[in-house]
Amino acid sequence: MKRVALFPGSFDPFTKGHEDIVLRGLKLFDEIIIAVGYNSSKNQRYFKIDFMLEKIRETFVKYPQINVVTYSELTAELARKHQARFLLRGLRNTTDFEYENSIAQVNRFLNEELESVFLITSPPFAAINSSIIREVHRYGGDVSPMLPYQL
Ligand code: ADP
Repeated sequence: MKRVALFPGSFDPFTKGHEDIVLRGLKLFDEIIIAVGYNSSKNQRYFKIDFMLEKIRETFVKYPQINVVTYSELTAELARKHQARFLLRGLRNTTDFEYENSIAQVNRFLNEELESVFLITSPPFAAINSSIIREVHRYGGDVSPMLPYQL
């Protein structure tokens, strides 16, 4: 059976830290579906969803086993729809751990078949944070070293 993992997130924007998690995930999974969500708690995106979709697709153009979709439903439901048995997430620090732990518990409750798998961030990307990138970009700073594509 094909090992399909869903990598869900707001990816506002998708960073080199996210790219690293996906590329390392390829050692574990046959297919990775990157799912760009309309995050309900961050009701307004900074980077348009279609723009981010295009940039992520461009980043992984050489990888037919990586697909990119958008979603505005429960992650557990989306996983069912794509027959994904794994949820891939990245962990940078204890703050991520606290947050990821509660999301993983809820997802397990909603879909028992779904296993959450966590990869610890690679040290060069540990400080990369989408919300800081948005702040820097808003005030005209150069964020290109933190992104795997040109804005
Ligand atoms: P969400 O809004 O769902 O937290 P994000 O787009 O912020 O989505 O992040 C998606 C996933 O990537 C999360 O598991 C997050 O912890 C992880 N992540 C974010 N930044 C990094 C990074 N620099 N290195 C490794 N993982 C990261």
